[in-house]
Amino acid sequence: MAGISNDDIQNFLSNLERRASSSVTPFSEFPMPWFGLDIGGTLTKLVYFEPTDDKGNFETEEELLSDRMIQRYLTTNKAYGDSGVRDEHLELQNVTINNRIGTIHFIRFPTNQMPTFITLVKEKEFTLMSSTVCATGGGAIKYAKDAESELNMQLLKSDELESLIKGIELIASVNNEECYYYDYPLDNERCRKVSWKWSKGCCSSECTDHSQATDDGLQYPYIVVNIGSGVSVMAVYGQHDFKRISGSSIGGGFFQGLCCLLCGCDSFEEAVMLASHGNNRNIDKLVKDIYGRAYDNVGLPEDTVAASFGKICSNEARENATREDLAHSALVTTTNNIGSVALNAANHCKIDRIVFVGNFLRVNPIAARLLSKAMDFWSQGTKKALFLQHEGYFGAVGCLDKLVAVTEMRKKQREGLSSSSSASSD
Ligand code: ADP
Repeated sequence: MAGISNDDIQNFLSNLERRASSSVTPFSEFPMPWFGLDIGGTLTKLVYFEPTDDKGNFETEEELLSDRMIQRYLTTNKAYGDSGVRDEHLELQNVTINNRIGTIHFIRFPTNQMPTFITLVKEKEFTLMSSTVCATGGGAIKYAKDAESELNMQLLKSDELESLIKGIELIASVNNEECYYYDYPLDNERCRKVSWKWSKGCCSSECTDHSQATDDGLQYPYIVVNIGSGVSVMAVYGQHDFKRISGSSIGGGFFQGLCCLLCGCDSFEEAVMLASHGNNRNIDKLVKDIYGRAYDNVGLPEDTVAASFGKICSNEARENATREDLAHSALVTTTNNIGSVALNAANHCKIDRIVFVGNFLRVNPIAARLLSKAMDFWSQGTKKALFLQHEGYFGAVGCLDKLVAVTEMRKKQREGLSSSSSASSD
């Protein structure tokens, strides 16, 4: 995805300067309201920063009223139009961004509803402030013209992967409960989610070596596996030091598409629900279906999937297959493939912490538990699958964080302007 270009920055800065020329807004502050927008292949994620300190800075009465209207609309509703949803359980309070304290709200809607979103913003007259929004994802490019012409809103584009990593780092540093892993992932009796403090360094509740522990911050390196419509894998060595190392088209879009075709599902939630009641063993060919037992020579347990959907070639298996079994098999196929891509990448980079994010993991603990088991088993316990509470929102949060960088840029430009004007007057 294209990064932020010089033209974008210049347009954006001159827009701000135009506003600032007749304003009382200090140069250290980006005009409110603050949004981050990630327009993905399937879902659009919108994060909204609601300031809760009393440092409000508005240029005109009209702007103040408009800001209050947006705030009230977004924070008192849980649903917007037919398909917008606010994930209230994810709300984060007392977060400091750009020297302001506030609450981050998390909202999502299907990207195919973007035209409806644009109409809604117009209808509610939220465009009064001709606000600038930091945006990422393919849609930030696809919808940039519409946002500008229809809403008079400028999309300041941010690189997708850079935003993702920024968002992870920001949320993980403000929320102690962000990160977790599964103990005994496939044991229904004993399975439990365990909160993991990233600064501790260890990846297991049984780990006793805390020599790497720090009071705060993240431990590097780590692998990020972003499971959205497709899959991207990044190796992260430091806050500004990361690269995309792998990926796959077999991700959330594949799972949902397959379930639509095979099970007539209308939604992701329905597909996951069906999968949770099915059994892939009626659909997939396992090692024991071929060997009659485990393939010990190469360490393959008897219940390893040898061929996804391998049984369904037989008429009898097809007649007996339920929608639930088919959905479960689609989920296991998708998850196994992602696990394999993730593990290869982690092995290649010799990194043990593997952090899985993206909305494929939303309301989908079966996938998370399968990934946990797979990482543990295939790495002989050396690699750990880690998960984050804000699953699919990190790209949008990273955009919010971009405001800090832009504010700095703005300050520097101002300082440059004032020092060159004082030099010329000397
Ligand atoms: P993208 O940026 O590509 O849209 P996301 O991280 O938002 O990626 O994940 C999209 C995937 O999340 C979908 O392919 C689907 O598997 C899953 N998903 C979870 N919740 C939903 C939902 N309510 N509607 C559609 N897909 C969903």
